Amino acid sequence: MTELFTTVYGRGLVDEFKEYVHRPYVVATMADLWPRFADSFDDGHVGPLLVRSMERSEVERDVAALPEVNAVIGLGGGQALDTAKYIAWKRRVPLFQVPTAMSVNAAFAQRAAVRMDGIVRYVGWAVPEAVYVDFDLIRSAPTELNRSGVGDILCYHTAHWDWRMARDSGQMEARWPYDERLVEEARVAFDRVVENAAAIHEVSDVGIRALMESLRWGGAAFHNSGWNPRHIEGAEHFVFYALEYLTGRPFIHGQPVTLGVLLMSALQENRQEWIREVADRVGVSYRPEQMGLTWDDVAAALRILPEHVQRAGLWHTVASQRPINEEFIARTREWLQA
Ligand SMILES: [Zn+2]
Repeated sequence: MTELFTTVYGRGLVDEFKEYVHRPYVVATMADLWPRFADSFDDGHVGPLLVRSMERSEVERDVAALPEVNAVIGLGGGQALDTAKYIAWKRRVPLFQVPTAMSVNAAFAQRAAVRMDGIVRYVGWAVPEAVYVDFDLIRSAPTELNRSGVGDILCYHTAHWDWRMARDSGQMEARWPYDERLVEEARVAFDRVVENAAAIHEVSDVGIRALMESLRWGGAAFHNSGWNPRHIEGAEHFVFYALEYLTGRPFIHGQPVTLGVLLMSALQENRQEWIREVADRVGVSYRPEQMGLTWDDVAAALRILPEHVQRAGLWHTVASQRPINEEFIARTREWLQA
């Protein structure tokens, strides 16, 4: 029920792969990361697969073009790790994952996030031999990337309210009846992040372990609950999906998700000042201008939110329950700027 991926913490972990990984192997990574790691691998690899896009048809094309490999190493953020999963799935080869920042829980989840016509879909299946968390490697990532990872844990705050509301208003999906046991499990991961907010801000070894252990729980939670997203994702993610749909731009996932947590906790009237204070203690960037957005972009996403939820076939949350009016949009703008 709570099977989590084997996860190893340490130092100098990337240099070890050439001693044991099945050959020939491919490293799925990003063009800007590869020069830093090229020397860690030997001639047993077929050349890196440099991720270009997460649009499913493009991922398919890149994977189909690969020569025969006997193992895949994912090295990078969510896109590299998800592409590595896709390769492991298609080619049925062992997978090793190395997240280079604490930006997402992709390393700890079975399915890969791809886009189909701009809408996110989780496809495929891959369980890594191990996930390697290298303290020095994580610390060398941009601090704002590392702090952004709390977004995928802080989202439990709004997700749990949404699930309770759906139960209490009789709008719960039959497939996902409210389950306090799942909510309690999520709360352990959530509390760990709240308690270690200062250490995560510092990106200390203690902070890395705390956030990664929570992301490790969260990554596997969708499958462990029988593909139930209710305790780990709610309207805060829908805000992000709407922003992505409208702008067509890439984001550092945890930043718009945290913005979504603040906006939706305000709509829920659910301790919004407190959750904002936690986000501030970690130092995650959630202001629109910090992610290259204008307030008009955010306002537009909020206006289309219920419609986008329907279009994407998402579940019943505050986004469908409580109408967002211009007064709310103006008030939250002022609040976030304060
Ligand atoms: Zn997320």
